[in-house]
Amino acid sequence: MIFEYAPAPESRSVVTLRETYELFVDGAFTPAESGEHLTTVDPADGSELARVAVAGPADVDKAVAAARRAYDTVWSRMSGAERGKYLFRIARVIQERSRELAVLESMDNGKPIKETRDVDLPLVAAHFFYYAGWADKLAHAGLGPDPRPLGVAAQVIPWNFPLLMLAWKIAPALATGNTVVLKPAETTPLTALAFAEICQEADLPPGVVNILTGAGETGRALVEHPGTDKVAFTGSTEVGRQIARAVAGTDKRVTLELGGKGANIVYDDAAIDQAVEGIVSGIFFNQGHVCCAGSRLLVQESIAEELLPLLKARISRLRLGDPLDKNTDIGAINSAEQLERIRELTDAGEAEGAERWSPACDLPGSGYWFAPTILTGVSQAHRVAREEIFGPVLSVLTFRTPEEAVAKANNTPYGLSAGVWTEKGSRMLWTAERLRAGVVWSNTFNKFDPTSPFGGYKESGYGREGGRHGLEAYLG
Ligand code: NAP
Ligand code: MG
Repeated sequence: MIFEYAPAPESRSVVTLRETYELFVDGAFTPAESGEHLTTVDPADGSELARVAVAGPADVDKAVAAARRAYDTVWSRMSGAERGKYLFRIARVIQERSRELAVLESMDNGKPIKETRDVDLPLVAAHFFYYAGWADKLAHAGLGPDPRPLGVAAQVIPWNFPLLMLAWKIAPALATGNTVVLKPAETTPLTALAFAEICQEADLPPGVVNILTGAGETGRALVEHPGTDKVAFTGSTEVGRQIARAVAGTDKRVTLELGGKGANIVYDDAAIDQAVEGIVSGIFFNQGHVCCAGSRLLVQESIAEELLPLLKARISRLRLGDPLDKNTDIGAINSAEQLERIRELTDAGEAEGAERWSPACDLPGSGYWFAPTILTGVSQAHRVAREEIFGPVLSVLTFRTPEEAVAKANNTPYGLSAGVWTEKGSRMLWTAERLRAGVVWSNTFNKFDPTSPFGGYKESGYGREGGRHGLEAYLG
């Protein structure tokens, strides 16, 4: 007998939305020069959440000047121990406000509250705590006796983990004595603006953190601004390429965290139920809007027939719906544009000969939704095996030998993540050694920790974020 769940919605009342949000420049909320605004919506029903200022070139000038002033007069002169106190304070305020921030993130992004509450927010706070601890120990980071900050960092982040990507960017930059101007994604600006309030609450000196909202053009104006010393970008490979071109020939330092097409390799000796859980979380966590998602399942041919029905049974039990319901496993797709891209690529997979399967699953009538989907019979040449779908769609391929598994896993322009499922330690190490991926998980997937570096090979970008390595990107 199957029991239905009663709805368990988290209350929206912990969030107070303003009708209009302005830019955060030099410690204060400031209207954009143009007076222009964009609208951010709740992707679960398409309703309007708030209007948000659009920063133009004049606002970028102001924010960069404020960041420079704060760098020269306060932040770069402060002792690491003092900077650390601010970061600890920010981390504590994030913890205190974590319920509100989790709800706000789910509303603006569409991801399930279970994830924002249990994954995003704890990791955001952990990131600030971790880098706060480094602020007074930089001389012991293995980067020379007196490593120096770079100056003003221009930071541009995507919509899939809005507050977490902000933490990955801002925490190490501040700990090392840099000041920042950050642009969140057009569709998910609200938690970055809440973070601006947190900077005020923590009494952070004005100009150390500046938040400029807007669309791609705002990002372009920021990364091309001559007054910054460092560009840190997370997003698509296409925009990453444009940025690399824009900063070529300048002496700016650059880190790029780009796309991925991670292989999840399951050997015939793997603990199969555990592997099924890992495959599911590898691709359906955050609706598959994860750069390091295990979007290509490589399963050993001898167990494919056993594994696929188990996988389908498990996927059939995932609950799709209201992101604020505590029972929800799969929330909304972040935007109409992203939904269109997922549809287009999945249709292309079918047209190229893959077989498509989704569980019986009612999609809500408004908002942006896509059922969890498996594509079997996928070949290496199919677009769905090569291109990043960035949605809840798993492409399944098979292999016979470990050599074939590695060859197929590495047959991609990307190199961000991979998973290996096997009972044998020797096989796991043999495989991990040969995979060209920045992160290789074994018998687990999507494990994140601020102490662990993260980053890609090949078209997945360059530079590392997180851990001691993450300091290097902000020190000269
Ligand atoms: P995107 O289009 O590249 O956007 C990323 C950010 O760049 C957004 O803030 C965007 O603004 C801004 N932007 C757009 N055009 C720009 C330009 N010409 N110059 C400067 N900034 C510009 O990527 P997305 O669609 O938001 O995110 C999905 C992609 O990000 C996927 O490919 C995914 O793999 C990748 N990603 C990678 C990682 C990683 O750590 N490697 C993590 C998360 C996501 P608007 O949003 O306003 O357009
Ligand atoms: Mg939104």
